Amino acid sequence: MGITRRAGAGLTLAAVAAMTVAMAAPAAAEKVRPTDGATPLVTPFDVADPTIGNLDPALRAAVQAAANAAAAQGITMTVNSGWRTPQFQQQLLDDAVLTHGSLAAARRFVQTPAQSRHVVGQAVDIGGPEAAQWLIAHGPRFGLCQIYANEPWHFELVADAAGTCPPLLPDAAG
Ligand SMILES: [Zn+2]
Repeated sequence: MGITRRAGAGLTLAAVAAMTVAMAAPAAAEKVRPTDGATPLVTPFDVADPTIGNLDPALRAAVQAAANAAAAQGITMTVNSGWRTPQFQQQLLDDAVLTHGSLAAARRFVQTPAQSRHVVGQAVDIGGPEAAQWLIAHGPRFGLCQIYANEPWHFELVADAAGTCPPLLPDAAG
């Protein structure tokens, strides 16, 4: 099964198992792709992958521009998760309830399908060593902002024209 199918409803059991393990650690709560080196990584330019192809075009263009600037500084930017189906978002939430013990606790790490910006193609989870930290520092000039203090990998296109980001929210429930 190709990596492209993992972004949608067609999760493999292995992917679900890997995700469940990853979600045991809050810092990896939104990781949905293995980073074991054996699985091809998705870049912002892999538009044939629905996780990239179904992103809002303005967000995708901003992430591509940022990825090019990061690459010029020797930093490879990948996307662990972009667009998600509502069903996949619900599955992430259900898994988080099991991991964290309650819906209230799970909501600190995972949005509902109705509220998730991933489901509408307006959020990306950035991967790659140093890439998320690079984007926190340099993303605002591309319009890209970290949103949640407890999710240093999650970015949305919400900077204003001056490149200023809104105040950080403590977590996804904030
Ligand atoms: Zn996210």
